Amino acid sequence: MDPQPSRRSTADPSRRRFLPSWWIVIPALVGVAALGLWALLQDPAQELRYGVFKKKLAARAVRSVKVGPTELRGELAAADPKGRPVKFRVSRVGMETDPELAKLLDQNVPEGAYEAASGPSAAETILLPAALMGGVLGVLLYALKRSGGMGSALAFSKSRHRVYQKDERRLSFEDVAGNPEAVGELREVVEFLRTPEKFHAIGGRIPKGVLLVGPPGTGKTLLAKAVAGEAGVPFFSLSGSDFVEMFVGVGAARVRSLFAQAEAKAPCLVFIDELDALGKARGSGGPGNHDERDQTLNQLLVQMDGFDANRGIIVIAATNRPETLDAALVRPGRFDRQVVIDRPDLVGREDILKVHARRVSLDDGINLRQIAAMTSGFVGADLANLVNEAALLAARKGKPRVSHAEFEEGVERVIAGPEKRQRVIRADERLRIAYHEAGHALVARSLPGTDPVHKVSILGRGNGALGYTMYRPEDDRFLHTRAWLENTVCSLLGGTIAEEIVLGDVSDGCSSDLQRATQIARRMVAEFGMSPALGRVSYQNEGRSPFLPGGGSGDYAWSEQTAREIDLEVRRVLEQAQAATRQILNDRRAALEEITRVLTERDTIDATELQDVLDRHPYEKA
Ligand code: ADP
Ligand code: MG
Ligand code: ZN
Repeated sequence: MDPQPSRRSTADPSRRRFLPSWWIVIPALVGVAALGLWALLQDPAQELRYGVFKKKLAARAVRSVKVGPTELRGELAAADPKGRPVKFRVSRVGMETDPELAKLLDQNVPEGAYEAASGPSAAETILLPAALMGGVLGVLLYALKRSGGMGSALAFSKSRHRVYQKDERRLSFEDVAGNPEAVGELREVVEFLRTPEKFHAIGGRIPKGVLLVGPPGTGKTLLAKAVAGEAGVPFFSLSGSDFVEMFVGVGAARVRSLFAQAEAKAPCLVFIDELDALGKARGSGGPGNHDERDQTLNQLLVQMDGFDANRGIIVIAATNRPETLDAALVRPGRFDRQVVIDRPDLVGREDILKVHARRVSLDDGINLRQIAAMTSGFVGADLANLVNEAALLAARKGKPRVSHAEFEEGVERVIAGPEKRQRVIRADERLRIAYHEAGHALVARSLPGTDPVHKVSILGRGNGALGYTMYRPEDDRFLHTRAWLENTVCSLLGGTIAEEIVLGDVSDGCSSDLQRATQIARRMVAEFGMSPALGRVSYQNEGRSPFLPGGGSGDYAWSEQTAREIDLEVRRVLEQAQAATRQILNDRRAALEEITRVLTERDTIDATELQDVLDRHPYEKA
């Protein structure tokens, strides 16, 4: 079959209606066609097959080459009959796909005549015309809508997803490194897609939807493709923003059309990238098309409820902003399974480097662990980019293999790269974050009854937090004792106080810790009657539903005098907790230092490693 991802679509019949105003449509279409033609003429490069290109290279018939990540462009040595230079383009190859390429280029192109593409890429040369065409279309549609025509009901309601057929190059879990936990969770999905009957027989419930959550570039799309590849099922891929249109009803029709086709192809995988573009909490959108988005989202919810999971359709969605999603999406029966994909730690980065380094020839002496250590904060996409940069640099220097020096130079390039995200954190800030998180973890582990620490990391999670300490409660807790609440306040304060003790100063990275600690303290005093000074009184207004946003906290009824007392009591609770926390951290300074050291070296520390450190530095309470 067609090895390309084919675009398929069917208009939704229920929405096809009569179209008036041809007199607007036809001139506009002619205009668009003319623009398209112009765009084509703008790019006269001739497409060469890779084999032909290599022959020309060997025959030294190539004057210059630009190497992009996925394509080559350049000029041939010989001019055309009119004396103009002949440009060419080779698609779908890059330094990564053929390690030999570097050597060939080096031997056969004059020095300095090839480089990494930095000029306009193929995408850019058609961007301007495409934007123009988009503009024309937009105006056209607007005119249609104004004139009462049913613009939205045209072919725009068809789903624009891409279907990847079975015979396309399959990705497998081998291609995804550094995230064994996420891969483990998705193996079950693969099993199910392969043999849905087996699961029927057992009667097990399969998740309908799996939500992949993690910062950009951590391999969410890659992982979804790997699931489809491993299961060998068709893969419907679509981005959340594809659904969002300016006309009400179009997105919803696209959702229907997508699911109709998925059902026809079951077992299959539907992948919705950037779910947040579509699944924002309803009514939360700014001005503009929230009606449209709400309808689309509602349609998605309806469809997800509607299909029978046992038919073998699984919806995987990806987002890097889970907090903006509508709560209805993560309810059971929809995206009820979440797989968190974190930035890779030291070992993870080494594994990812290994995957990508398979495609280039490396110097024998190279130590990928060392390179992983230089790239704290890099995500998978950055690492893939790094390997490519290093290979290009080696090629430019005429080296047959990539050595350490190129990787070091590559790291700088990636850091300075065009998307200058917060990638590598300054060394002093990193140390501060490490002390902060170590402080949280150590205090939590030093106090009885707090939730066990599952993992500590100094890699940001993309939600603004610079690091995190993950607790794993043993059971759901319905009751919290006073000791538990107090100890939790202490561990919340542990981060800042560790900074203060060791670095002599605090930072502003702790506001949410402080906020939560204060909230707990206030509720202890004003709601739970846990303050001796105020006694067992609840200063909570009655008649408020605990299910309302904000929970049962909020409006209190009290005199001004009492308000002052409450404030004083809250402060007392917090001060007491601070003193206790400071004591613990001072007593266990050695453990604090060691946890911090592990964190700065490896970015993360898990429960067992943490236990090891604590065993080495036992705590004798004075
Ligand atoms: P996301 O969808 O999370 O933004 P992508 O899946 O698009 O990230 O990742 C972009 C590229 O980065 C991938 O095609 C792959 O080359 C590389 N990459 C990202 N994560 C990994 C990983 N865990 N293992 C190997 N390669 C990765
Ligand atoms: Mg993606
Ligand atoms: Zn903190």
